[in-house]
Amino acid sequence: MNGPTRTPVAIVGGGPVGLMLALLLDRHGVPCTVFDTAEAPHRTPRGNTHNARTMEHYRRLGIATPIRALGLPGEHPTDIAYFTRYNGHELSRLPLPSRNTRMRRTGRAPATDQTPEPVHRANQMYVERFLAEHVRTRPRITLRLGRTVTGLRQEADRVTLRTEDSAGRVHDVAASYAVGCDGGRSFVRRTLGVHYEGPGSLGQEVLGRRATAAHLRLPTFHRDVMTGTRAWSYWAFNSALAMNLIALNGEDEFFLLTSSADPDRTGPGPLADLVRRAAGTPLPVEVLDHRPWTPG
Ligand SMILES: Cc1cc2nc3c(=O)[nH]c(=O)nc-3n(C[C@H](O)[C@H](O)[C@H](O)COP(=O)(O)OP(=O)(O)OC[C@H]3O[C@@H](n4cnc5c(N)ncnc54)[C@H](O)[C@@H]3O)c2cc1C
Repeated sequence: MNGPTRTPVAIVGGGPVGLMLALLLDRHGVPCTVFDTAEAPHRTPRGNTHNARTMEHYRRLGIATPIRALGLPGEHPTDIAYFTRYNGHELSRLPLPSRNTRMRRTGRAPATDQTPEPVHRANQMYVERFLAEHVRTRPRITLRLGRTVTGLRQEADRVTLRTEDSAGRVHDVAASYAVGCDGGRSFVRRTLGVHYEGPGSLGQEVLGRRATAAHLRLPTFHRDVMTGTRAWSYWAFNSALAMNLIALNGEDEFFLLTSSADPDRTGPGPLADLVRRAAGTPLPVEVLDHRPWTPG
């Protein structure tokens, strides 16, 4: 039987944290191997905002410009707008600049201004796909998708990881360091006996407890329903429902976050009806994906 494969650093989890760690190690000349259960980068929407500090990290790695090109078109405003229904009364609007306006302002700002890389709205699914592609171009980084870490053993001079591929074959890997980047329910964290403290959720009615997140295609929303100034985040509030629709690509893809559906029982039909009720008008709704989600 062959001995374990060796790697200086084993990164468990190839989400944004694991991929960024791999790129930062690479920048310092340290080879690593990233393991992720998923066979491909995630294709469902999650986090939407890359704050200035995150953009600065991308800049240090030379990838801020291509990441800033992801998500909404350059002139799409990033407003947050509140409605009773989407075809009804606009309650309020927080005007926020488009990507191009923001970058023009940053370009004109004095050199002592806080950051050359202001906040950027682009969904995590687009950025994760980009990061995974970029990681593949770096010879020091090995990306092992479809590989679940199922065991960790600490020894005097190494950590031995037991990994399992999608066909159930077991591969042992020896590393000088193993890093847990495997998300909120982290296997590494639990194996080390590290527990969370504090309350689990706020328990609030609107997106403050277990809710529903869905990826939608709404091909006519911007053309027929939201005919005024565009926004990034469209909230609908009335006595019957509350939801947030986030524009993903400025065209037909949207991210729905709502507490007005039972996260464990809802499905494409009820979610499409909910969106039509929020719109106040019939419109085509394709539910690409939906799942329960507890806002953090
Ligand atoms: C619906 C939704 C909306 C969200 N909205 C926001 C938002 O607006 N703003 C915000 O800041 N955050 C948001 N988040 C949270 C954000 O997505 C997470 O904070 C972020 O993904 C954490 O990144 P991570 O790399 O630590 O973990 P993850 O993205 O969870 O990645 C962990 C990776 O580890 C892999 N993995 C797990 N166990 C193993 C194992 N044993 N072996 C190998 N691989 C393993 C998983 O497949 C996964 O790819 C949202 C999340 C969801 C679900």
